[in-house]
Amino acid sequence: MRQILVLALFFSAAHAFAGFSAGAAKAKMTPDVSDAANPVWLAGYQGGRAATGVHDDLWITALAMNHDQGSVLFITVDLIGYMFDEVAEVKNLIHKELDIAPSKIFIFSTHNHSGPDSIGLWGKDGKTGKDQAYLDSLRRKILACAGEAVKSMKPVRAVFGKTRYDNPIEDSRPPKIINDLLLSMKLTDMEGHTIATLVNYAMHAEVLNGKNTLLTSDYPGVLREQLEKKLGGVAIYITGDIGGMQSPFVLFHTFWSRERVGKALAVQVLQSLMGKLPEEVPYLRAHASEILFPIENKRYIQAIESGMFGRSSQFIQKAGDKYFLPADVAFVQIGPAQFITVPGEAFPEVGNVLRGKMAQDYPFVLGLANNEIGYIVPDDQWNDSGYEENMSLGPQTTKTLLKAVSELLDKI
Ligand SMILES: [Zn+2]
Repeated sequence: MRQILVLALFFSAAHAFAGFSAGAAKAKMTPDVSDAANPVWLAGYQGGRAATGVHDDLWITALAMNHDQGSVLFITVDLIGYMFDEVAEVKNLIHKELDIAPSKIFIFSTHNHSGPDSIGLWGKDGKTGKDQAYLDSLRRKILACAGEAVKSMKPVRAVFGKTRYDNPIEDSRPPKIINDLLLSMKLTDMEGHTIATLVNYAMHAEVLNGKNTLLTSDYPGVLREQLEKKLGGVAIYITGDIGGMQSPFVLFHTFWSRERVGKALAVQVLQSLMGKLPEEVPYLRAHASEILFPIENKRYIQAIESGMFGRSSQFIQKAGDKYFLPADVAFVQIGPAQFITVPGEAFPEVGNVLRGKMAQDYPFVLGLANNEIGYIVPDDQWNDSGYEENMSLGPQTTKTLLKAVSELLDKI
């Protein structure tokens, strides 16, 4: 009887190896643009931008990691933001079918400005541009992609890359403060084959601008493609502290520029990883905690009350006449690298505070994690009429975030 039980345990945890293991997968998530009666509204910029075609596919990427049976899952989607309600449902699906705890699952959007409106702010004539049927089908695709990543897990070693590269970043909001860190983590199996390369860089995915009407993954797509071509495996891009206002500096917002920026970043990543020998990863841990952000922005309150956010509003909490948006922050450690996740677009000034809390050589700040709460503006820069403030929950956001991160770090 005991033997049977042991065998059953062995098979149910067939993906769990002693030590550190990982698996990665990717899947297309490009919406269908062939139905002229039901256009895909592109997210970002002025709104009312109907997609006229597909330049290149949008992707889901998934990285499953395990250490002595504790699993952590990183997932990315090529969206402007993936909201708390969708994230919560995907986490539940994954928990049920893949047995990974919701608090160990992190879904990041690349903040792509040439993907479908996943928030609800960019339809025609001020209406929502969100297609709930598309988002419903996306959840199953994410689950399938995560499942493939989990299934393919095998023992891996890691190499970490770090360089500074400010060449394509323009900070259009004074003071000029740029986070030019380009961080990466390459995981290889015991034969040296690449399983995944994760890149973290703080620049808006908006080489293409509001004139573009083709679906594209913007520069992260080129960066990933180049890394996969040179290294193999699945390349994963997670955006950093891109607030106020870390945009690509390009003369022409064209697909040619997209190619140039993505390729230049890939060259930098490859150089920073070159010549390093993969090392054992002694541990993997992840701790998350939930936060309630006060919603002070009148425009958002109006949008909530008029139903523009659709089902995302079901998670918004009301106390008296005040609204609160749930989100989470997390601290993840993978060997010598530390990661703090942020549910929106932190200004680099806020990113610097977070990096200051991480003692290690590879301080990843992972933006748009498990939600998109908008800009996270430093207190001393708050200006009621600023653009970023207009796209922010309100002046208490940064304080609320930093307090939650400090409390989380104190606890662990
Ligand atoms: Zn933004």
